[in-house]
Amino acid sequence: MGDNRHNDQNDDINEKKETSSANDSDKSGDYEDVCFICRRPESKAGKMFRLPNHICVCDDCMHKTMDTVSQFDYQGLLNQPPTDGGNNRFPNISFVNLADLQGDGGIPNKQKIRKKKSTDDKPEIDIKNIMPPHKIKAKLDEYVVGQEHAKKVMSVAVYNHYKRVATGTMDEIEIEKSNMLMIGPTGCGKTYLVKTLARLLDVPLAITDATSLTEAGYIGDDIESVVSKLLAAADNDVERAERGIIFIDEIDKIAKKKNTTSRDVSGESVQQGMLKLLEGAEVEVPVGANSKNAMVPLATVNTRNILFICGGAFPDLEEIIKQRLNKQTSIGYTAQLRDKYDKEKNILSHVTVEDIKKFGMIPEFIGRLPVIFTLEGLSKEMMVRILSEPRNAILKQYQKLLELDEVQLEFEPDALEAIAGKAMEKDTGARALRAIIEEFMLDIMYEVPKDDNIGRVTITKEYIEGTGGPVIDIRSNSLEHPDHLKVIENGNAGGQA
Ligand code: ADP
Repeated sequence: MGDNRHNDQNDDINEKKETSSANDSDKSGDYEDVCFICRRPESKAGKMFRLPNHICVCDDCMHKTMDTVSQFDYQGLLNQPPTDGGNNRFPNISFVNLADLQGDGGIPNKQKIRKKKSTDDKPEIDIKNIMPPHKIKAKLDEYVVGQEHAKKVMSVAVYNHYKRVATGTMDEIEIEKSNMLMIGPTGCGKTYLVKTLARLLDVPLAITDATSLTEAGYIGDDIESVVSKLLAAADNDVERAERGIIFIDEIDKIAKKKNTTSRDVSGESVQQGMLKLLEGAEVEVPVGANSKNAMVPLATVNTRNILFICGGAFPDLEEIIKQRLNKQTSIGYTAQLRDKYDKEKNILSHVTVEDIKKFGMIPEFIGRLPVIFTLEGLSKEMMVRILSEPRNAILKQYQKLLELDEVQLEFEPDALEAIAGKAMEKDTGARALRAIIEEFMLDIMYEVPKDDNIGRVTITKEYIEGTGGPVIDIRSNSLEHPDHLKVIENGNAGGQA
Protein backbone atom coordinates (compact mmCIF):
# COMPACT_ATOMS: atom_id res chain seq x y z
CA MET A 1 0.00 0.00 0.00
CA GLY A 2 2.91 2.25 0.81
CA ASP A 3 4.20 1.96 -2.80
CA ASN A 4 0.92 3.11 -4.29
CA ARG A 5 1.28 6.34 -2.55
CA HIS A 6 4.32 7.21 -4.56
CA ASN A 7 2.13 7.37 -7.68
CA ASP A 8 0.38 10.26 -6.14
CA GLN A 9 -0.72 13.03 -8.48
CA ASN A 10 -0.85 15.76 -5.98
CA ASP A 11 2.27 17.92 -6.35
CA ASP A 12 2.26 19.30 -2.87
CA ILE A 13 2.03 15.95 -1.33
CA ASN A 14 4.58 14.42 -3.68
CA GLU A 15 7.09 16.97 -2.67
CA LYS A 16 6.63 16.09 0.93
CA LYS A 17 6.64 12.39 0.25
CA GLU A 18 9.95 12.52 -1.55
CA THR A 19 11.49 13.62 1.64
CA SER A 20 9.96 10.78 3.58
CA SER A 21 11.87 7.60 4.19
CA ALA A 22 10.97 4.16 2.91
CA ASN A 23 9.26 3.28 6.13
CA ASP A 24 6.31 5.58 5.63
CA SER A 25 3.97 3.84 7.95
CA ASP A 26 6.08 4.97 10.89
CA LYS A 27 5.62 8.52 9.77
CA SER A 28 1.94 8.44 9.01
CA GLY A 29 1.42 10.55 12.11
CA ASP A 30 3.25 13.37 10.37
CA TYR A 31 0.54 13.76 7.74
CA GLU A 32 -2.90 15.10 8.05
CA ASP A 33 -5.97 14.66 5.97
CA VAL A 34 -7.39 17.37 3.75
CA CYS A 35 -11.10 17.66 3.09
CA PHE A 36 -11.87 16.66 -0.47
CA ILE A 37 -14.52 19.37 -0.75
CA CYS A 38 -13.36 22.43 1.13
CA ARG A 39 -9.62 21.58 1.14
CA ARG A 40 -9.20 22.43 4.81
CA PRO A 41 -6.74 20.23 6.70
CA GLU A 42 -7.88 18.07 9.60
CA SER A 43 -6.30 20.43 12.13
CA LYS A 44 -8.69 23.16 10.97
CA ALA A 45 -11.77 21.24 9.88
CA GLY A 46 -11.86 18.63 12.62
CA LYS A 47 -12.12 14.88 12.39
CA MET A 48 -12.59 13.60 8.84
CA PHE A 49 -14.87 10.95 7.46
CA ARG A 50 -12.78 8.57 5.40
CA LEU A 51 -14.40 7.40 2.20
CA PRO A 52 -13.17 4.84 -0.32
CA ASN A 53 -10.27 5.77 -2.61
CA HIS A 54 -8.61 7.72 0.19
CA ILE A 55 -11.12 10.50 -0.03
CA CYS A 56 -11.60 12.39 3.19
CA VAL A 57 -14.48 14.71 3.85
CA CYS A 58 -14.73 17.02 6.83
CA ASP A 59 -17.63 16.96 9.16
CA ASP A 60 -19.12 20.22 7.90
CA CYS A 61 -19.00 19.23 4.24
CA MET A 62 -20.31 15.75 5.03
CA HIS A 63 -23.29 17.22 6.80
CA LYS A 64 -23.96 19.75 4.10
CA THR A 65 -23.89 16.92 1.60
CA MET A 66 -26.19 14.81 3.76
CA ASP A 67 -28.61 17.68 4.12
CA THR A 68 -28.68 18.23 0.38
CA VAL A 69 -29.17 14.56 -0.27
CA SER A 70 -31.99 14.30 2.20
CA GLN A 71 -33.76 17.23 0.57
CA PHE A 72 -33.50 16.11 -3.03
CA ASP A 73 -34.05 12.72 -4.55
CA TYR A 74 -31.98 13.47 -7.66
CA GLN A 75 -34.33 11.13 -9.48
CA GLY A 76 -32.46 8.03 -8.56
CA LEU A 77 -29.13 9.53 -9.50
CA LEU A 78 -27.60 8.22 -6.36
CA ASN A 79 -29.06 4.78 -6.68
CA GLN A 80 -26.11 3.42 -8.54
CA PRO A 81 -24.51 0.20 -7.36
CA PRO A 82 -21.77 0.70 -4.83
CA THR A 83 -18.37 1.08 -6.40
CA ASP A 84 -16.56 0.07 -3.28
CA GLY A 85 -18.00 -3.39 -3.09
CA GLY A 86 -19.24 -2.57 0.39
CA ASN A 87 -22.40 -3.81 1.93
CA ASN A 88 -24.66 -0.92 1.08
CA ARG A 89 -27.94 -1.00 2.92
CA PHE A 90 -28.89 2.64 2.31
CA PRO A 91 -29.82 3.03 -1.34
CA ASN A 92 -29.85 6.80 -1.35
CA ILE A 93 -26.38 7.27 -0.02
CA SER A 94 -24.41 4.86 -2.06
CA PHE A 95 -21.39 7.12 -2.15
CA VAL A 96 -20.88 6.67 1.57
CA ASN A 97 -19.24 3.51 2.76
CA LEU A 98 -20.43 3.33 6.34
CA ALA A 99 -17.59 1.05 7.32
CA ASP A 100 -15.19 3.85 6.49
CA LEU A 101 -16.94 6.46 8.54
CA GLN A 102 -14.56 7.60 11.24
CA GLY A 103 -12.32 4.69 10.29
CA ASP A 104 -8.60 5.03 10.37
CA GLY A 105 -7.09 5.39 6.94
CA GLY A 106 -3.82 4.53 8.58
CA ILE A 107 -1.38 5.91 6.06
CA PRO A 108 -0.62 9.10 4.25
CA ASN A 109 -2.40 9.40 0.92
CA LYS A 110 -3.74 11.95 -1.52
CA GLN A 111 -5.94 13.47 1.07
CA LYS A 112 -3.24 14.05 3.62
CA ILE A 113 -0.85 16.88 4.17
CA ARG A 114 1.96 17.00 6.61
CA LYS A 115 0.92 18.32 9.96
CA LYS A 116 2.59 21.52 11.02
CA LYS A 117 5.13 20.80 13.67
CA SER A 118 3.90 22.44 16.79
CA THR A 119 6.73 24.19 18.53
CA ASP A 120 5.46 23.99 22.07
CA ASP A 121 3.27 21.02 22.67
CA LYS A 122 3.57 21.41 26.39
CA PRO A 123 0.68 23.32 27.98
CA GLU A 124 1.70 26.33 30.02
CA ILE A 125 -0.24 24.97 32.95
CA ASP A 126 -0.23 21.22 33.48
CA ILE A 127 -3.58 20.20 34.87
CA LYS A 128 -2.15 17.00 36.31
CA ASN A 129 0.26 19.02 38.33
CA ILE A 130 -1.69 22.20 38.56
CA MET A 131 0.11 25.37 39.60
CA PRO A 132 -1.16 27.44 42.52
CA PRO A 133 -3.70 30.22 41.89
CA HIS A 134 -1.22 33.10 42.03
CA LYS A 135 0.76 31.53 39.21
CA ILE A 136 -2.34 30.93 37.13
CA LYS A 137 -3.27 34.56 37.65
CA ALA A 138 0.21 35.69 36.66
CA LYS A 139 -0.23 33.80 33.39
CA LEU A 140 -3.63 35.40 32.83
CA ASP A 141 -2.07 38.81 33.57
CA GLU A 142 0.10 38.42 30.50
CA TYR A 143 -2.98 38.45 28.31
CA VAL A 144 -5.86 40.09 30.13
CA VAL A 145 -5.67 43.69 31.27
CA GLY A 146 -7.38 44.73 34.51
CA GLN A 147 -10.25 42.56 35.82
CA GLU A 148 -8.08 41.76 38.82
CA HIS A 149 -10.94 40.39 40.88
CA ALA A 150 -12.24 38.19 38.08
CA LYS A 151 -8.80 36.78 37.37
CA LYS A 152 -8.25 36.03 41.04
CA VAL A 153 -11.59 34.28 41.48
CA MET A 154 -11.12 32.29 38.29
CA SER A 155 -7.61 31.21 39.21
CA VAL A 156 -8.78 29.86 42.55
CA ALA A 157 -11.82 28.15 41.04
CA VAL A 158 -9.80 26.55 38.27
CA TYR A 159 -7.11 25.49 40.72
CA ASN A 160 -9.67 23.80 42.95
CA HIS A 161 -11.51 22.26 40.09
CA TYR A 162 -8.55 20.64 38.41
CA LYS A 163 -7.02 19.64 41.72
CA ARG A 164 -10.17 17.65 42.35
CA VAL A 165 -10.21 16.26 38.86
CA ALA A 166 -6.56 15.23 39.00
CA THR A 167 -6.71 13.63 42.43
CA GLY A 168 -10.19 12.19 42.09
CA THR A 169 -11.22 13.54 45.49
CA MET A 170 -14.52 14.53 43.98
CA ASP A 171 -15.57 10.88 44.40
CA GLU A 172 -14.74 10.61 48.07
CA ILE A 173 -16.02 13.82 49.53
CA GLU A 174 -18.21 14.91 46.67
CA ILE A 175 -17.01 18.45 46.68
CA GLU A 176 -19.14 20.78 44.66
CA LYS A 177 -17.95 21.69 41.20
CA SER A 178 -16.54 25.16 40.71
CA ASN A 179 -18.88 26.11 37.88
CA MET A 180 -18.81 29.86 37.39
CA LEU A 181 -21.13 32.68 36.52
CA MET A 182 -19.43 35.80 35.22
CA ILE A 183 -21.33 39.02 34.91
CA GLY A 184 -19.96 41.98 33.02
CA PRO A 185 -20.76 44.40 30.22
CA THR A 186 -20.12 43.44 26.62
CA GLY A 187 -16.55 43.54 25.35
CA CYS A 188 -14.94 43.60 28.78
CA GLY A 189 -13.11 40.32 28.28
CA LYS A 190 -15.42 37.53 29.47
CA THR A 191 -14.94 35.28 26.46
CA TYR A 192 -11.34 36.31 26.20
CA LEU A 193 -10.61 35.28 29.80
CA VAL A 194 -12.13 31.84 29.25
CA LYS A 195 -10.36 31.35 25.95
CA THR A 196 -7.04 32.35 27.47
CA LEU A 197 -7.57 30.04 30.40
CA ALA A 198 -8.43 27.07 28.20
CA ARG A 199 -5.38 27.72 26.05
CA LEU A 200 -3.06 27.97 29.04
CA LEU A 201 -4.44 24.77 30.49
CA ASP A 202 -4.52 23.09 27.08
CA VAL A 203 -8.03 21.76 27.64
CA PRO A 204 -10.72 21.72 24.97
CA LEU A 205 -13.16 24.61 25.05
CA ALA A 206 -16.64 24.86 23.59
CA ILE A 207 -18.29 28.27 23.35
CA THR A 208 -22.04 28.37 22.91
CA ASP A 209 -24.59 31.08 22.87
CA ALA A 210 -27.45 30.41 25.26
CA THR A 211 -29.81 32.12 22.84
CA SER A 212 -29.43 29.27 20.35
CA LEU A 213 -30.47 26.64 22.88
CA THR A 214 -34.01 25.38 23.25
CA GLU A 215 -35.70 22.59 25.11
CA ALA A 216 -35.24 19.27 23.29
CA GLY A 217 -37.71 18.82 20.49
CA TYR A 218 -38.08 22.48 19.60
CA ILE A 219 -36.41 24.42 16.82
CA GLY A 220 -32.90 25.34 17.91
CA ASP A 221 -30.02 23.38 19.40
CA ASP A 222 -30.69 20.83 22.09
CA ILE A 223 -29.03 21.64 25.36
CA GLU A 224 -26.84 18.57 25.04
CA SER A 225 -25.38 19.98 21.84
CA VAL A 226 -22.96 21.96 24.01
CA VAL A 227 -21.34 18.69 25.08
CA SER A 228 -21.25 17.56 21.49
CA LYS A 229 -19.40 20.77 20.60
CA LEU A 230 -16.90 20.12 23.34
CA LEU A 231 -16.35 16.61 22.05
CA ALA A 232 -15.65 18.05 18.63
CA ALA A 233 -13.24 20.56 20.16
CA ALA A 234 -11.48 17.62 21.81
CA ASP A 235 -11.10 15.87 18.43
CA ASN A 236 -13.72 13.34 19.49
CA ASP A 237 -11.52 12.21 22.35
CA VAL A 238 -14.07 11.54 25.09
CA GLU A 239 -11.51 11.48 27.87
CA ARG A 240 -10.11 14.87 26.86
CA ALA A 241 -13.60 16.31 26.50
CA GLU A 242 -14.49 15.16 29.98
CA ARG A 243 -12.03 17.58 31.52
CA GLY A 244 -12.74 20.45 29.17
CA ILE A 245 -14.47 23.78 29.65
CA ILE A 246 -17.87 24.76 28.31
CA PHE A 247 -18.53 28.47 28.09
CA ILE A 248 -22.15 29.49 27.69
CA ASP A 249 -22.40 33.11 26.69
CA GLU A 250 -25.45 35.36 26.86
CA ILE A 251 -26.78 33.33 29.76
CA ASP A 252 -28.96 36.31 30.77
CA LYS A 253 -31.02 35.71 27.64
CA ILE A 254 -32.44 32.50 29.09
CA ALA A 255 -33.88 34.28 32.09
CA LYS A 256 -37.46 33.39 32.96
CA LYS A 257 -39.78 35.40 30.74
CA LYS A 258 -41.99 37.67 32.73
CA ASN A 259 -45.75 37.72 32.20
CA THR A 260 -45.79 34.97 29.64
CA THR A 261 -48.59 32.49 29.19
CA SER A 262 -46.99 30.35 26.49
CA ARG A 263 -44.47 27.63 27.21
CA ASP A 264 -41.05 29.17 27.72
CA VAL A 265 -39.03 26.79 25.54
CA SER A 266 -35.95 28.96 25.25
CA GLY A 267 -35.91 30.49 28.72
CA GLU A 268 -36.76 28.75 31.92
CA SER A 269 -36.94 25.32 30.27
CA VAL A 270 -33.37 25.68 29.06
CA GLN A 271 -32.28 26.50 32.59
CA GLN A 272 -34.12 23.40 33.80
CA GLY A 273 -32.58 21.31 31.06
CA MET A 274 -29.09 22.47 31.94
CA LEU A 275 -29.31 21.47 35.58
CA LYS A 276 -28.21 17.92 35.13
CA LEU A 277 -25.38 18.88 32.81
CA LEU A 278 -24.04 21.43 35.27
CA GLU A 279 -24.15 18.97 38.10
CA GLY A 280 -22.68 16.04 36.25
CA ALA A 281 -24.48 13.48 34.18
CA GLU A 282 -23.81 10.89 31.55
CA VAL A 283 -25.02 12.21 28.24
CA GLU A 284 -25.15 10.48 24.93
CA VAL A 285 -23.97 12.86 22.28
CA PRO A 286 -23.65 12.48 18.54
CA VAL A 287 -20.06 12.34 17.35
CA GLY A 288 -19.29 14.84 14.66
CA ALA A 289 -22.75 16.38 14.39
CA ASN A 290 -25.02 18.46 16.51
CA SER A 291 -28.14 16.41 16.17
CA LYS A 292 -28.77 12.77 16.78
CA ASN A 293 -29.83 10.73 13.80
CA ALA A 294 -29.37 7.26 12.47
CA MET A 295 -26.25 8.18 10.58
CA VAL A 296 -24.07 9.43 13.40
CA PRO A 297 -22.40 7.34 16.05
CA LEU A 298 -23.08 8.26 19.67
CA ALA A 299 -20.59 8.66 22.47
CA THR A 300 -21.28 8.79 26.18
CA VAL A 301 -19.72 11.76 27.89
CA ASN A 302 -19.75 12.29 31.63
CA THR A 303 -20.04 15.98 32.49
CA ARG A 304 -19.07 15.83 36.15
CA ASN A 305 -15.49 16.97 35.52
CA ILE A 306 -16.40 19.46 32.83
CA LEU A 307 -16.05 23.01 34.05
CA PHE A 308 -19.05 25.11 33.09
CA ILE A 309 -18.61 28.85 32.86
CA CYS A 310 -21.65 30.98 32.12
CA GLY A 311 -21.33 34.61 31.13
CA GLY A 312 -23.71 37.41 30.44
CA ALA A 313 -24.14 41.17 30.51
CA PHE A 314 -27.38 41.04 32.57
CA PRO A 315 -28.47 44.47 31.34
CA ASP A 316 -31.17 45.30 33.87
CA LEU A 317 -29.39 43.76 36.80
CA GLU A 318 -27.91 47.11 37.81
CA GLU A 319 -31.39 48.50 38.31
CA ILE A 320 -32.36 45.55 40.48
CA ILE A 321 -29.24 45.94 42.61
CA LYS A 322 -29.76 49.70 42.92
CA GLN A 323 -33.34 49.22 43.97
CA ARG A 324 -32.33 46.77 46.64
CA LEU A 325 -29.50 48.92 47.93
CA ASN A 326 -31.60 52.08 47.91
CA LYS A 327 -34.36 50.26 49.74
CA GLN A 328 -31.92 49.22 52.41
CA THR A 329 -30.61 52.72 52.85
CA SER A 330 -34.05 54.29 52.89
CA ILE A 331 -34.84 52.48 56.12
CA GLY A 332 -33.95 54.12 59.39
CA TYR A 333 -31.34 56.72 59.95
CA THR A 334 -29.63 56.30 56.57
CA ALA A 335 -32.78 57.34 54.74
CA GLN A 336 -31.25 60.55 53.46
CA LEU A 337 -28.80 58.55 51.34
CA ARG A 338 -31.57 57.26 49.15
CA ASP A 339 -29.86 57.86 45.85
CA LYS A 340 -26.39 57.14 47.14
CA TYR A 341 -25.95 54.23 44.73
CA ASP A 342 -27.46 55.87 41.69
CA LYS A 343 -24.17 57.34 40.64
CA GLU A 344 -21.91 54.52 41.70
CA LYS A 345 -19.95 53.18 38.76
CA ASN A 346 -19.31 49.61 39.62
CA ILE A 347 -22.72 48.78 40.94
CA LEU A 348 -22.59 45.24 39.52
CA SER A 349 -19.98 44.26 42.06
CA HIS A 350 -22.68 44.44 44.77
CA VAL A 351 -24.63 41.62 43.15
CA THR A 352 -26.13 38.90 45.30
CA VAL A 353 -27.81 35.62 44.45
CA GLU A 354 -31.14 37.25 45.29
CA ASP A 355 -30.64 39.87 42.59
CA ILE A 356 -29.87 37.23 40.00
CA LYS A 357 -32.98 35.31 41.03
CA LYS A 358 -35.00 38.44 40.66
CA PHE A 359 -33.53 38.91 37.22
CA GLY A 360 -35.10 35.62 36.19
CA MET A 361 -32.62 32.85 36.83
CA ILE A 362 -34.14 29.93 38.70
CA PRO A 363 -32.67 29.09 42.12
CA GLU A 364 -31.64 25.55 41.13
CA PHE A 365 -29.69 26.99 38.21
CA ILE A 366 -27.83 29.60 40.25
CA GLY A 367 -27.23 26.98 42.91
CA ARG A 368 -25.20 24.99 40.42
CA LEU A 369 -22.97 27.97 39.62
CA PRO A 370 -21.38 28.50 43.03
CA VAL A 371 -18.65 30.88 41.87
CA ILE A 372 -20.26 34.18 40.94
CA PHE A 373 -18.17 37.21 40.07
CA THR A 374 -18.38 40.41 38.09
CA LEU A 375 -16.13 42.11 35.59
CA GLU A 376 -15.77 45.86 35.39
CA GLY A 377 -16.61 47.92 32.36
CA LEU A 378 -13.44 49.07 30.61
CA SER A 379 -12.11 52.53 31.35
CA LYS A 380 -10.20 54.62 28.84
CA GLU A 381 -6.99 53.90 30.67
CA MET A 382 -7.64 50.15 30.46
CA MET A 383 -8.32 50.48 26.74
CA VAL A 384 -4.92 52.13 26.23
CA ARG A 385 -3.29 49.27 28.08
CA ILE A 386 -5.26 46.67 26.09
CA LEU A 387 -3.88 48.21 22.92
CA SER A 388 -0.27 47.73 23.83
CA GLU A 389 0.30 45.55 26.87
CA PRO A 390 -1.05 42.00 26.40
CA ARG A 391 1.30 39.44 24.89
CA ASN A 392 -0.71 39.42 21.70
CA ALA A 393 -1.80 43.08 21.81
CA ILE A 394 -3.27 44.46 18.60
CA LEU A 395 -0.47 46.98 18.20
CA LYS A 396 2.14 44.28 18.62
CA GLN A 397 0.43 42.30 15.88
CA TYR A 398 0.64 45.21 13.46
CA GLN A 399 4.22 45.91 14.49
CA LYS A 400 5.10 42.32 13.72
CA LEU A 401 3.40 42.50 10.34
CA LEU A 402 5.34 45.58 9.34
CA GLU A 403 8.53 44.21 10.80
CA LEU A 404 8.37 41.54 8.13
CA ASP A 405 8.68 44.42 5.64
CA GLU A 406 11.52 45.75 7.77
CA VAL A 407 9.49 48.75 8.77
CA GLN A 408 9.20 49.96 12.34
CA LEU A 409 5.76 50.95 13.51
CA GLU A 410 5.41 53.31 16.40
CA PHE A 411 2.49 54.94 18.16
CA GLU A 412 2.68 58.23 19.99
CA PRO A 413 1.10 58.05 23.45
CA ASP A 414 -1.41 60.71 22.38
CA ALA A 415 -2.47 58.51 19.50
CA LEU A 416 -3.27 55.62 21.86
CA GLU A 417 -5.38 57.96 23.98
CA ALA A 418 -7.22 59.11 20.88
CA ILE A 419 -7.94 55.52 19.80
CA ALA A 420 -9.18 54.62 23.28
CA GLY A 421 -11.32 57.75 23.34
CA LYS A 422 -12.96 56.78 20.06
CA ALA A 423 -13.55 53.23 21.30
CA MET A 424 -15.19 54.49 24.50
CA GLU A 425 -17.81 56.28 22.43
CA LYS A 426 -18.89 53.05 20.78
CA ASP A 427 -19.96 51.28 23.95
CA THR A 428 -18.91 47.85 22.72
CA GLY A 429 -15.91 47.59 25.02
CA ALA A 430 -12.54 46.52 23.69
CA ARG A 431 -14.18 45.09 20.61
CA ALA A 432 -14.33 48.60 19.15
CA LEU A 433 -10.55 48.96 19.31
CA ARG A 434 -9.80 46.54 16.53
CA ALA A 435 -12.38 48.07 14.23
CA ILE A 436 -10.91 51.55 14.74
CA ILE A 437 -7.34 50.42 14.25
CA GLU A 438 -8.15 48.43 11.16
CA GLU A 439 -9.74 51.49 9.64
CA PHE A 440 -6.71 53.73 9.87
CA MET A 441 -4.07 51.01 9.41
CA LEU A 442 -5.55 50.16 6.03
CA ASP A 443 -3.87 53.08 4.27
CA ILE A 444 -0.60 52.32 5.97
CA MET A 445 -0.64 48.63 5.18
CA TYR A 446 -1.45 49.56 1.59
CA GLU A 447 1.10 52.34 1.10
CA VAL A 448 4.11 51.08 3.00
CA PRO A 449 4.99 48.03 0.88
CA LYS A 450 5.01 50.33 -2.19
CA ASP A 451 8.13 52.12 -1.08
CA ASP A 452 11.19 50.18 -0.01
CA ASN A 453 12.76 53.28 1.46
CA ILE A 454 10.30 53.64 4.27
CA GLY A 455 12.03 52.71 7.49
CA ARG A 456 9.63 53.83 10.16
CA VAL A 457 5.99 54.87 10.47
CA THR A 458 4.83 56.81 13.50
CA ILE A 459 1.10 57.05 14.14
CA THR A 460 0.13 60.43 15.54
CA LYS A 461 -2.93 61.72 17.31
CA GLU A 462 -3.64 63.93 14.32
CA TYR A 463 -3.75 60.91 12.05
CA ILE A 464 -6.29 59.18 14.29
CA GLU A 465 -8.40 62.29 14.46
CA GLY A 466 -8.22 62.83 10.72
CA THR A 467 -6.43 66.16 10.92
CA GLY A 468 -2.99 65.02 9.88
CA GLY A 469 -0.96 62.11 8.65
CA PRO A 470 1.46 59.62 10.15
CA VAL A 471 5.13 60.52 10.24
CA ILE A 472 7.17 58.50 7.80
CA ASP A 473 10.91 58.14 8.28
CA ILE A 474 13.03 57.14 5.37
CA ARG A 475 15.71 54.54 6.00
CA SER A 476 18.85 56.38 7.11
CA ASN A 477 21.13 54.37 4.84
CA SER A 478 19.09 55.30 1.81
CA LEU A 479 21.22 57.78 -0.15
CA GLU A 480 18.73 58.37 -2.91
CA HIS A 481 16.35 60.00 -0.48
CA PRO A 482 18.18 62.71 1.38
CA ASP A 483 14.84 64.23 2.41
CA HIS A 484 14.41 62.24 5.52
CA LEU A 485 10.86 62.78 6.44
CA LYS A 486 7.74 62.66 4.41
CA VAL A 487 4.09 62.17 4.99
CA ILE A 488 1.68 59.68 3.50
CA GLU A 489 -1.12 61.51 1.82
CA ASN A 490 -4.46 60.20 2.81
CA GLY A 491 -7.94 61.52 2.27
CA ASN A 492 -7.85 64.24 4.88
CA ALA A 493 -4.19 64.30 5.73
CA GLY A 494 -2.96 67.82 6.21
CA GLY A 495 0.65 66.74 6.34
CA GLN A 496 3.13 66.76 9.10
CA ALA A 497 6.88 66.85 8.89
P1 ADP B 1 -17.20 39.77 26.08
O1 ADP B 1 -17.01 40.25 27.48
O2 ADP B 1 -18.37 40.44 25.42
O3 ADP B 1 -17.20 38.29 25.97
P2 ADP B 1 -14.72 39.54 24.69
O4 ADP B 1 -14.03 38.74 25.74
O5 ADP B 1 -15.16 38.78 23.49
O6 ADP B 1 -15.94 40.31 25.29
O7 ADP B 1 -13.77 40.73 24.27
C1 ADP B 1 -13.58 41.13 22.94
C2 ADP B 1 -12.12 41.36 22.63
O8 ADP B 1 -11.63 42.47 23.34
C3 ADP B 1 -11.24 40.20 23.05
O9 ADP B 1 -11.02 39.32 21.98
C4 ADP B 1 -9.96 40.83 23.49
O10 ADP B 1 -9.04 40.93 22.42
C5 ADP B 1 -10.34 42.23 23.87
N1 ADP B 1 -10.41 42.41 25.32
C6 ADP B 1 -11.54 42.63 26.04
N2 ADP B 1 -11.26 42.81 27.32
C7 ADP B 1 -9.93 42.68 27.46
C8 ADP B 1 -9.03 42.76 28.58
N3 ADP B 1 -9.46 43.02 29.81
N4 ADP B 1 -7.71 42.59 28.33
C9 ADP B 1 -7.27 42.35 27.08
N5 ADP B 1 -8.05 42.27 26.00
C10 ADP B 1 -9.38 42.44 26.17
